[in-house]
Amino acid sequence: MLAKTESVALVGTSGHLVSVEVYVAGGGIPTFRIVGLPAASVREADQRIKSALEASDLHWPGSRIIANLAPGNLRKEGSHFDLALALGILAGAEKIEAERLEGWMIVGELALDGSVRPVRGVLAAAMAAKKHGRKGIICPGDNAPEAAIVEGLKVVPVDNLRRAITFLEGGWDPPAVLPAPEPPLVTEDMAEVKGHPEAKKAAEIACAGGHNLLMIGPPGSGKSMIARRLPGILPAMSMQESLDVTSVYSVAGLLGNKAGLTRRRPFRSPHQGVSLAGLIGGGSGLPRPGEVSLSHYGVLFLDEISLFRSDVLDSLRGPLEEGRVRIARSGAMVEYPCRFSLVAAMNPCPCGYFGDPVRECRCSAARLRYYNDKLSGPLIDRFDIQAMMARPTRAELMSREPSEPSSAIRSRVEAAREVQSERYGSPLISNSSCSKAELERHVRLTQEAGSLLGALIDALGLTGRGVDRIKRLARTVADLDGSSSVEEDHVGIASGHRYLEAEAVPA
Ligand SMILES: [Zn+2]
Repeated sequence: MLAKTESVALVGTSGHLVSVEVYVAGGGIPTFRIVGLPAASVREADQRIKSALEASDLHWPGSRIIANLAPGNLRKEGSHFDLALALGILAGAEKIEAERLEGWMIVGELALDGSVRPVRGVLAAAMAAKKHGRKGIICPGDNAPEAAIVEGLKVVPVDNLRRAITFLEGGWDPPAVLPAPEPPLVTEDMAEVKGHPEAKKAAEIACAGGHNLLMIGPPGSGKSMIARRLPGILPAMSMQESLDVTSVYSVAGLLGNKAGLTRRRPFRSPHQGVSLAGLIGGGSGLPRPGEVSLSHYGVLFLDEISLFRSDVLDSLRGPLEEGRVRIARSGAMVEYPCRFSLVAAMNPCPCGYFGDPVRECRCSAARLRYYNDKLSGPLIDRFDIQAMMARPTRAELMSREPSEPSSAIRSRVEAAREVQSERYGSPLISNSSCSKAELERHVRLTQEAGSLLGALIDALGLTGRGVDRIKRLARTVADLDGSSSVEEDHVGIASGHRYLEAEAVPA
């Protein structure tokens, strides 16, 4: 007979309902076919299901079985269809009542011994179940806290196939599942960073205007210490942003079994040897979100940026511009969001001590030239702010003066973001991402500011792009200052953060 149940197909980070229809026919040669655009990972379900049924003392019906996953035009990828298929087969073979399956979203991978393994994308499945008014979700126990993030949805955690059947037959009423408690919002504070007033100001401006930040300084000057604290000075995430970030981690399978809603902005620091797929996303089966997407609404930090492969760095340009990344699959395109702040660090030269007052640079002229060529790439141009950092002085390191805490910086950043949100009519548009026309409309330079910019163009030989960057930065500096017009001081401060233009780069 025909039995119906329901599961989910993941399209990027969102879940689409998939109707799982299983027809079990008596007689003939026993066969099992899955139709409806299943990928290899879904077609392999038959071996797992057969073994899981036998291990659970349930018989594989010796008949012709056809499972249809609808809608047929949607590609189904992943091992999470196992549980719905197995229960559908049992209902089709009249081992359990078909009506019992009605209204449940079912996800989970079956192990050969009949246990139910955690799967990716359960949050998206739970959201789809809620949106379509389903009774609830039957999912792996390890994924249950993740499903419980969706309020008002019944979550049934099952650790093995038998458990799922007992529940459907009314033999077990699971206790309410709660999402894990939220971890503290900020753990690393700017107050712990001694000295570096300019670099901290640069970080504040970067966060306030959504500008990408490049820190240049010798080893041990505190570049990564500041980078790690950037999520803590960015505005708190909205509920929707938190859900979006949590969804990405769910699809990546990185939430773990103690997951709650992610309230902290992500901070990712991939290794210099990261592959293209690791950075952008990809891999076999259901493509995994890359580091750019795992940094969604947070910070992607590239430490020692000169050590990354050029093609890997170049691949960042599209995602930076579009805020999303598309991964080509056979027959489909998968899209993940990736609105991140790019922060990078580098030494001023290969040995690290160019321009250092105490230690001498030991780099040859040829090595310096090679290094600088890498610097001049189109990606480096994307860094609105280039902050030069010296090692902190003895006085700074010994100082007992408390530094400003992240919370104080964050409130200024939030105020500046608020102004931009009103100006551009969207919280997603900032001084760094607004169109050129919008920039021209909103950057009113005072006469003095205009003449300073003119002088800078002459003195530094600024290109059109360089002028554009300084205007965007000056707008942010003015916003932090609570000023509607852009004054001479704002332009001055902005130009001070364009190190690579302002200083003679080692050559
Ligand atoms: Zn050197």
